[in-house]
Amino acid sequence: MNEFNLLKKIIEDNNSFLLTTHVNPDADALGSVLALSFILKKLGKYVRIINHSSTPYNLEFLDEDGIIEKYDLKLHSDIFNEVDVCMLLDLNQANRIASMEKGFSQFKGIRVCIDHHQNNENIFDYIFGGAEYSATCEILYDFMKETKISELDYKIAYQLYAGIMTDTGSFRFERTSPRIHNIAADLLETGINPTDIYDKIYNQFKFGRVKLLGEALSNIKLDTTGKIAYMMVKRDSLLRNNSNEADVDSFVNYCLTIQGVLIGILFYELKDGIKISFRSKGDIPVNKLAGEFNGGGHINASGARLDNTSIDELIDKILTSAKKYI
Ligand code: 5GP
Ligand code: MN
Repeated sequence: MNEFNLLKKIIEDNNSFLLTTHVNPDADALGSVLALSFILKKLGKYVRIINHSSTPYNLEFLDEDGIIEKYDLKLHSDIFNEVDVCMLLDLNQANRIASMEKGFSQFKGIRVCIDHHQNNENIFDYIFGGAEYSATCEILYDFMKETKISELDYKIAYQLYAGIMTDTGSFRFERTSPRIHNIAADLLETGINPTDIYDKIYNQFKFGRVKLLGEALSNIKLDTTGKIAYMMVKRDSLLRNNSNEADVDSFVNYCLTIQGVLIGILFYELKDGIKISFRSKGDIPVNKLAGEFNGGGHINASGARLDNTSIDELIDKILTSAKKYI
C-alpha cells in the first residue's frame, strides 16, 4: 500500500478525529487543518480542530464558520480520551503544539503527522508528506488526487490555495516548480479568486503593524561580515503599536533584501523569553542553526523559542553560531 492509501485507510477505519497545528499558525497551518476537516466531514466523520493559539486576526476569514477552538484545559480535558485519531499538521515536533503537548504525549489512539518540515520527532505512529513538499496543503492536494478520497471543491481549494500561496512566498521560493503552478491552476479552476485571497492575507493589516515594521526596519543591523542582518521587535514597541506576534510574521524577510546578506535573523521578545526567526539564501541550512537552540524548520526558514532568557543575554551567542554557517 502506498503512503496515501494508508492515510485513506486510517481515515476510513476510524470515526473521530482531533486535528491541530502549531503555535502562532500561518495560512498553511490553518488551511491544512480546515481542508482536512472538510474532507473528514464529507465522509461523515466526527472532527474537531483545537489549536493552542487563537487564529491571527488577518487569517480569521479562512475559518468562515468559526469551527476552530482554542485549547482550554478546562473545556478540553477529555478530548485526548475521546478521539480515535489525533492528527498534527504542519509541524513535526511536539513542543510546537505548546500547551497541548502534555495531552498528546498521553494520547493512546493513533498519532498521525502530516507535514513538510525536516527532522521529525519520533513520536508518531504514521508520518505523511516530507520536506520535498512546499506546503502541508500541497501534501493534502496530492493525497486527494491520488486516493480520490473526496472531490476537490471550492471550499477545500480555497484553503489549499491559501496555504500553498503563502508557504511558497507567493510563488517565489525555491520549491516554486512547474508542478506547483499546475496545482495552483487546478485549484483556481474551482473558481477561487487569487486576488481576493492575497488581499485578505497581506493587505488588511492594522495600522499599528505597519508602524511596528517601520520601527523594526529603522533598527536593523549588519554584523561585521556584512552577511548577517538582524532586527529586533521588543515588547514595548509591540505594545505601543497595539500589535501581537502574528503581526511580526515575515518581517525577517526584509533582512534578505539587503545586498550581500545571506542570513537574516529576527529576535522577538516574548513575555518570558524570546522567539527567533532565521532565514537564509541558497544552501545555508538555518534549520541546523535553529537546531542548536532547540528549534527547527526548513533549510531556508527556521525558528526557535527560548524560555526564561532575554535578547541581550543571547544575541552574541546566536550571531557567533550564525557566522559558522557562512
Ligand atoms: P517563523 O520564523 O516564520 O515563525 O518560522 C519559520 C519556520 O521555522 C516555520 O516553518 C516553522 O515551522 C519553523 N519554526 C519556527 N519556530 C520554531 C520552533 O520553535 N521550533 C521548531 N522546531 N520549528 C520552528
Ligand atoms: Mn507549512
